[in-house]
Amino acid sequence: MTNDRPQRIAVIGSNMVDLVTTIDRLPREGETLEAPGFSLGKGGKGANQAAAAAKLGAPVLMVSRVGDDLFGADTIRNFAELGIDHRHVRAVPGTTSGVAPIFVDAQGRNSILIVKGANDHLRPADVDEAAPDLLACDLILLQLEIPLDTVYHAIDWAHANGKRVLLNPAPATTSLSLERIRHVDFFMPNQTELHILTGLPTETPADAETAARALLERGMGTVVVTLGADGALLVTPGGCERIAPVAVRARDTTGAGDAFIGAFAAHLAEGLAVKPALEAAGRYAAHSVTRAGTQKAFATREEFTEFCMALPQTPDA
Ligand code: AMP
Repeated sequence: MTNDRPQRIAVIGSNMVDLVTTIDRLPREGETLEAPGFSLGKGGKGANQAAAAAKLGAPVLMVSRVGDDLFGADTIRNFAELGIDHRHVRAVPGTTSGVAPIFVDAQGRNSILIVKGANDHLRPADVDEAAPDLLACDLILLQLEIPLDTVYHAIDWAHANGKRVLLNPAPATTSLSLERIRHVDFFMPNQTELHILTGLPTETPADAETAARALLERGMGTVVVTLGADGALLVTPGGCERIAPVAVRARDTTGAGDAFIGAFAAHLAEGLAVKPALEAAGRYAAHSVTRAGTQKAFATREEFTEFCMALPQTPDA
């Protein structure tokens, strides 16, 4: 069941320009290797999640910072093309845009470097400046590619103003205060992030559930652990449910987690309950790994519907 008018989603987060090199293997120290290909793409966890939600038709407000370089204006143009409200995406004088050199091998495995650039200049005051527009949003998405102070401030602001918050603790850092984030409604790490944040083993689904429970005890409402090709776990005080994986031939898993989160937010905003919204997110993320790139790999609503119709069972597509 969906709402007639979807709720608005705000993303307070990063944008990056992906510098994607396809490789046969990573060079060893001191070695120079030829690589088969290179492409530019729009990325950054915040922008990726915003793009996935917007491509599915959700109304999205972006709060972000770009550099005063070649990539900044292009990033704002990309938000505009996606139909994302970018009034709170501004250039910071004297900074570079965030960039992400990404290396993808023939099996679709990726290695990623992050240069945060202007993303490090998104301050708590910028959240306050956007507050009148954030009040019109229902769900706020956060990641960890902006300063932690800004993340904490956004969580506190959302809590004080009755807004739901989804925090994707990526990239994970042990500096994250579990106390400061206890009010988040949805906490969505992958297995590596969950391990870094809890110090507990997370390799098997049973281990991941135990580690997620440790976070619930700190006050978080719902923990969703993404398990790559094994799907995801929905862990709440009431129990643990498996979100079954969707079998596809993976080509490039870069941005799968962002596709999953953006799609989850879009389906939640349409009025779906948490579990069916996660199942739809699993289908959307599975589709994204069949294509190369990050945002450009994300399906439009029409492409997603077509993909779901071709799957053996698609109860909520
Ligand atoms: P990850 O961030 O790698 O845990 O992936 C996020 C989500 O993307 C997972 O929960 C899956 O729903 C989906 N996903 C990632 N990799 C694959 C894959 N190889 N095949 C199908 N779905 C995938």
